[in-house]
Amino acid sequence: MQTPYYLIDERNLLKNLNKINYIREHCGVKFLLALKCFSTWSVFPLMNKYMDGTTSSSLYEAKLGAEKFGKETHAFSVAYRQEEVDELKNISSKIIFNSITQFKRFYKDVKNMKIGLRINPGISYSHFDLADPARKNSRLGIINEKEILPVLNRISGVMFHFNCENDDFCEFSKMLDKISDKYEKILNAIEWISLGGGLFFTKENYPIDKFCEKLKLFKDRYNLKVYLEPGEAAITGSCQLVTTVLDIVQNDKKIAIVDASIEAHMLDLLTYRQTAKLSEKKGKNEYVVAGCSCLAGDIFGEYKIVRKLKVGSQICFSDAAGYTMVKKNWFNGIQMPSIAIKRLNGEIEVVRSFSYADFVSQL
Ligand SMILES: *Cc1c(COP(=O)(O)O)cnc(C)c1O
Repeated sequence: MQTPYYLIDERNLLKNLNKINYIREHCGVKFLLALKCFSTWSVFPLMNKYMDGTTSSSLYEAKLGAEKFGKETHAFSVAYRQEEVDELKNISSKIIFNSITQFKRFYKDVKNMKIGLRINPGISYSHFDLADPARKNSRLGIINEKEILPVLNRISGVMFHFNCENDDFCEFSKMLDKISDKYEKILNAIEWISLGGGLFFTKENYPIDKFCEKLKLFKDRYNLKVYLEPGEAAITGSCQLVTTVLDIVQNDKKIAIVDASIEAHMLDLLTYRQTAKLSEKKGKNEYVVAGCSCLAGDIFGEYKIVRKLKVGSQICFSDAAGYTMVKKNWFNGIQMPSIAIKRLNGEIEVVRSFSYADFVSQL
């Protein structure tokens, strides 16, 4: 198979889905896939057996969710246009507004739907300012509870999204207690709540039973239907970006240049200044692994590995499912990685490959 390609392994995906299912069965919480993280719909027939639907950030994501995943479709947008609301009315099971002004503007159009409001609780867990919904002057969610109380009889639920890469159960637990106390009045009046994404409950050693217990107590205290919206946690560890070394140059260090680009194919890592993970053993051969774009900082990372690399060696970056395929771009006109899926039966299927015509047609 020609590199570069993303290789999704359904068996690894299933490990996360089984954990999701375990939580569903033990505390009755519902799970929606956050499409902004992962929208590769060729594996949705597997995922939708273990999850309850999707949540979206735009009309197109909501349409994709309704069409390809099915079950529940939650629509959210930081700000809707009229035409989007008109279309969402017909395809989504719930519509969530980010502000009171948007709620008031579109209420007449959606009053027959289940309506939610996003609340900004002013607390969050995030290592990155860029991804912190409670950052200073945040536009994400309603800050003032007093705006919500007068419209409580016109909404059925609320959404909070206040975590990013949170693998610390105690921190989550404390924040949930704060939200639970602060919004008691609202929580007593509604039917459903979404606690958003950003919780790393599929990570090894995450106290999944405590997590279930906590969610169950919260759910029962207010008699609520509770949703979680995992993006990353649903697909973590399920994909590799497979590349080939095209050249090895030397500038103090040995630099292996591969036929892919962090800027074009794993952009999130660059945005958050993180290095790509390699799926191989540590050794004594040191390399900088860099992309083939002309961006000076197009660097996947520095690694010490057992192998000696040469032109033609394959390099696989792991954890390449989340925020990669949804963000890939045609920068520099570099060959876009194909998307391949290793099915549960072990067969590999290339579901999409890209050509010059795709490059041309996007502009
Ligand atoms: C980004 C986002 C998610 C998913 O976040 P992950 O960190 O990928 O789990 C879920 N809900 C909302 C509202 C989001 O903005």
